[in-house]
Amino acid sequence: MTAQLIDGNALSRQLRADVATRVQALKARGVTPGLAVILVGDNPASQVYVRNKVKACEDTGMHSVLETWPATMGEADLLARVEAMNKDPSIHGILVQLPLPAHIDAQKVIEAISPAKDVDGFHVASAGALMTGLPGFWPCTPHGCMKMLEHIGYDLRGKHAVVIGRSNIVGKPMALLLLQANATVTVCHSGTKDLAGFTRQADVVVAAVGKRNVLTADMVKPGAVVIDVGMNRNEAGKLCGDVDFDGVKAVAGWITPVPGGVGPMTITMLMVNTLDSAERQASAQAG
Ligand code: NAP
Repeated sequence: MTAQLIDGNALSRQLRADVATRVQALKARGVTPGLAVILVGDNPASQVYVRNKVKACEDTGMHSVLETWPATMGEADLLARVEAMNKDPSIHGILVQLPLPAHIDAQKVIEAISPAKDVDGFHVASAGALMTGLPGFWPCTPHGCMKMLEHIGYDLRGKHAVVIGRSNIVGKPMALLLLQANATVTVCHSGTKDLAGFTRQADVVVAAVGKRNVLTADMVKPGAVVIDVGMNRNEAGKLCGDVDFDGVKAVAGWITPVPGGVGPMTITMLMVNTLDSAERQASAQAG
């Protein structure tokens, strides 16, 4: 079997076109969705991410504010900038790019963001809403993975999904979203014994580890859906995922590539969350 590709670039183009249409409709009602992105320090990967996020705002007609601060910025000053964005009516989503310099308590900064503008979905209020099935912002990466499954028309009910990784930003919310969609979910991590024993039983595998070749062809059930969240570099410096793509694509039914898979979907879902936030706030003001 050769797996069908789930093309994150193509799906993102489609979803961003839909976002752009909704942005125009909201602008006609006098509201321009706005995203504030705050970057502290000069981490080169973070600089690329924030540039891509701002560009996605421009492409979809949204307003964006990019604040860049030196790595020496104090925690109190950063909290003050977040508070200013909380109060700014032209801003509907606030994103503080992680990682932050070690002298800043990242969790404290995340908790300072108003839950109504927490478009990254990392605030405990957002995590609690996801946990209990209440409306709230879903973290963009797992949200994008769910969109990919929806796009291929995959019904998760009764399926066994294995998530490899349990971080607060990917693995755990991914597991909750799959559970909410009625999959039976197993979460694996660095302490899991016999990872392959779990993945071989899986109808869906989501790999979110950050290590190359965590999932190889012998670990995959024929026909399974394989979603690769990982972002790593190979010996040649080329971007690659956690999955041995060439091997696994011969066994799986569906597979996401790296690059061009989950990565563009993450930014797309940030646009969707920001637009949702603006629409919610506009409706609340209207009545
Ligand atoms: P993280 O916080 O480092 O978490 C990695 C998880 O993998 C941990 O739960 C860890 O287990 C687990 N793990 C480590 N080695 C393992 C092994 N050998 N077998 C099974 N599990 C293992 O990373 P993250 O923030 O979730 O990100 C994961 C990957 O996704 C990274 O490559 C990151 O760059 C990428 N990412 C991509 C996007 C995107 O848009 N495409 C977005 C976010 C992240 P323990 O909990 O036991 O330590």
